[in-house]
Amino acid sequence: MTKFTDLNLNPKVLKAIAEAGYESPTPIQAGAIPPALEGRDVLGIAQTGTGKTASFTLPMITQLARGRARARMPRSLVLCPTRELAAQVAENFDTYTQHLKLTKALLIGGVSFKEQDTLIDKGVDVLIATPGRLLDHFERGKLILTDVKVMVVDEADRMLDMGFIPDIERIFGLVPFTRQTLFFSATMAPEIERITNTFLSNPARIEVARQATTSENITQGVLMFKASRKDREATEKRKVLRALIDAEGEKCTNAIIFCNRKMDVDTVAKSLKKYKYDAAPIHGDLDQSQRTRTLDAFRAGELRFLVASDVAARGLDVPAVSHVFNFDVPSHAEDYVHRIGRTGRAGRDGKAIMICVPRDEKNFEDVERLVQKEIPRLDNPLGKGEERPKASEAPAEKAAATSDDKPKRTRSRSRKSDTPKPEADAPQAEAPKADTAPTPEAKPAPTPEQTPEPKQADSSDNNRRARGGRGGSNRGRGGNDRDTNKVVGLGDHTPSFIELSFEERPKG
Ligand code: AMP
Repeated sequence: MTKFTDLNLNPKVLKAIAEAGYESPTPIQAGAIPPALEGRDVLGIAQTGTGKTASFTLPMITQLARGRARARMPRSLVLCPTRELAAQVAENFDTYTQHLKLTKALLIGGVSFKEQDTLIDKGVDVLIATPGRLLDHFERGKLILTDVKVMVVDEADRMLDMGFIPDIERIFGLVPFTRQTLFFSATMAPEIERITNTFLSNPARIEVARQATTSENITQGVLMFKASRKDREATEKRKVLRALIDAEGEKCTNAIIFCNRKMDVDTVAKSLKKYKYDAAPIHGDLDQSQRTRTLDAFRAGELRFLVASDVAARGLDVPAVSHVFNFDVPSHAEDYVHRIGRTGRAGRDGKAIMICVPRDEKNFEDVERLVQKEIPRLDNPLGKGEERPKASEAPAEKAAATSDDKPKRTRSRSRKSDTPKPEADAPQAEAPKADTAPTPEAKPAPTPEQTPEPKQADSSDNNRRARGGRGGSNRGRGGNDRDTNKVVGLGDHTPSFIELSFEERPKG
């Protein structure tokens, strides 16, 4: 088996690795580090959780340790699809560079340009950025990219989903032709293949097993759940979730609870809090400082339940998560793999429990097909038919329903709702809100909260798309810039006469 000491890494990097407690390189590290150190391009096909961040940061640091940063001219560049991922890469850099004097700047939305400019002006060894924010800095003339020797594209398939491929192509055009490229993607969609063929030169290709096939230490289970009444489905699902959590007892030290839609992330978190569970939401519409606070608390073990959307949780590295609950079956089967991969990390045991309602059975079949095994069916901890709320419990849930569950009807779309998203999400958006009694004004047009969360990006990346321009021409899979401010039909307002019934007046 390869050892870190066989890999020609800088001794100070080796020291930091040993202090981090890593004993041996993971397969992606053993495969990617040697060619990266030789200066070759690398195409890594690997998901988060495989150790891929260190597979590019360790050789980069070893190379950067040899030179010095120059004002406004970063020597290396790491592009990440989301702020969280960028922040995580930055943390990795801090861990591995603690015995070296290397500087970095994190260019993400939610941080003032001024602060970032000051760092860039001083000169940084590595810039870690989301694509839109990087181009914003470049366009303001604050950044010179002609000294970039190594460029990393992390989670390229997410970039594609989020419509960032045009930005990436543009950035490839701004860095020197002779740079080294380390390119990572969990999957190789045709568009990703095209980019790698265009911009990588004879890369060393390292592919590691999909997480779906390596998650033996995660116990999985699904509860096939049918509500007593369609209009009580969401309420009863939340009750079932609480029962599933309770059934795990103390074994559930902490958990991430995934919902497909932002609205449900909020509702589930509020409902859990009402029932005295220590829970907080995280999704793309919450402001950055709140997201950071919530995540930090969860990482520190001060928050037990993190209720999350896929995008907000993508790539998050929280080393010890005992449970993942899928409140909804994800509409993309691959998201199931990402979600359950939050638990059972680094050889620990983990448990992943999902609730599947009849509407989600087709998505569930896709999940089972992808993971190539039958996910064991669980018994309803509430017993058969007991999901109907008892009279004594109704008021609290009712309160949650009135304050949290009612579909909020707003005219203005959320800031993020113009981010592109795959059309495949649409069926979720069409699903009627089931946990509140239908009201006369309920219309089939989805409210912003009913739309599944668009792939969440940096605000600067969203702004860039909104402005159009090169970055706005979304050619990626999700490149579908819809005018979400359009009011369809009557919008939120139904003139009262429409609800009147018509009676035929007797003739004569
Ligand atoms: P990543 O796939 O980069 O998100 O890494 C997943 C987790 O594995 C992180 O918590 C890393 O700190 C950890 N990790 C990375 N490399 C190793 C290694 N060689 N041995 C043990 N843990 C590692």
